[in-house]
Amino acid sequence: MGFRDFIFKKSLWLFHFGGASCNNCDIEILDCLTPRYDVERFGMQLVGSIRHADVLLVSGSINQKDKIRLLELYNQAPRPILVVAIGACACTGGIFAEGNVFAGPVDQIIPVDAYIPGCPPKPEAIIGGIVKLLTHPPFDSSLSRERGGTGGESTK
Ligand code: SF4
Repeated sequence: MGFRDFIFKKSLWLFHFGGASCNNCDIEILDCLTPRYDVERFGMQLVGSIRHADVLLVSGSINQKDKIRLLELYNQAPRPILVVAIGACACTGGIFAEGNVFAGPVDQIIPVDAYIPGCPPKPEAIIGGIVKLLTHPPFDSSLSRERGGTGGESTK
């Protein structure tokens, strides 16, 4: 097990970025924190700063303004960072993909390690997707992007 795999094995700290959306995905993410689903039993918790995060959760459609913020966040994130796209909007654009301010699915803006589809995905699916990252870290896969580098596009 490499160092990167080891540090992502337990207690992932999550930072949530919500794009322009209907907010149902955001509600389902919050549902994961309730006593019923209780992701803290896996050591997961939401943090208020990307600088404290192991995982960047992105939900909602990304418009032109969101794109700037998302790139800023990604470039401020500690390395390595895992990125999870949650919901149809984040994965593909969903019902907002035809909008004139739509800036593209998340993976056309920053590298994405896991996709959790659904509109919205159930809390079980969100938890399952993140836990899968714990057991199948992406660094040895075909994702050959340089995770230790600066990453992301320019925000200019
Ligand atoms: S994927 Fe569906 S539920 Fe989630 S933000 Fe988009 S429209 Fe809303």
